[in-house]
Amino acid sequence: MRKALVAGNWKMNGSMASNRELLSALKEAIPGSDAVDVAVCPPAVYLPDVRAQLQGGSIAVGGQDCSDETSGAYTGEIAAGMLKEIGCEYVIVGHSERRARQREDSDWVARKFIAAQAAGLVPILCVGEQLADREAGQTEAVVAEQLDAVLDQAGVAAFERGVVAYEPVWAIGTGLTATPEQAAEVHRFIRDRVAARDSSVAGGLRILYGGSVKADNAAGLFALPDIDGGLIGGASLDAGSFVAIVNAA
Ligand code: PGA
Repeated sequence: MRKALVAGNWKMNGSMASNRELLSALKEAIPGSDAVDVAVCPPAVYLPDVRAQLQGGSIAVGGQDCSDETSGAYTGEIAAGMLKEIGCEYVIVGHSERRARQREDSDWVARKFIAAQAAGLVPILCVGEQLADREAGQTEAVVAEQLDAVLDQAGVAAFERGVVAYEPVWAIGTGLTATPEQAAEVHRFIRDRVAARDSSVAGGLRILYGGSVKADNAAGLFALPDIDGGLIGGASLDAGSFVAIVNAA
């Protein structure tokens, strides 16, 4: 009933030349499918070019971040409406790297989620605990705070057109992946928390796992009932790996 989504988060990687090479391989190997939606999220400066290269194919394009404002004196920021105008379908909000480096807090992320939807984009809301949180038994409390900020500000109905990505921070780019059991536990927690407000919205909500997903661990993660695909960092830069991950979904 939920269609899987595999989204590649290129982060601050790529070049005109390497993007072209990667995209031509992906276009060839990823035909449209009823089972899985696929998206790539390149750095903002490459979005129009990536979009043009993917025109007419099955792979969607997303931004890595958007402003919570629609226009004005916000130097360096990009409005969700601008992403929509150039053909984006998705935007990542609240990635842990931005929560850490740009000090984005959950309220701010919630405003971005709302701005993204107002512009017609599907926000991919990232949530996840740090290693210290997990060791202190605070995983659920941290994830609940990040999720509740958006549920409170946007309302549960907004999650009909949203995606959540659970990304344990200690698993991002480290080669440490959450075990399927660890991931399943938090995915279930997220779905239950949304279900407490609206069970039908929770039933339709796509919850992705992210954090060192690779070709060889994707199938085990995606087989779990509450995991509806992945947000893929490092492995999305390698065509063979990304295609294998898409095929596992
Ligand atoms: P990773 O990144 O796959 O390189 O761990 C995932 C993410 O940060 O979205």
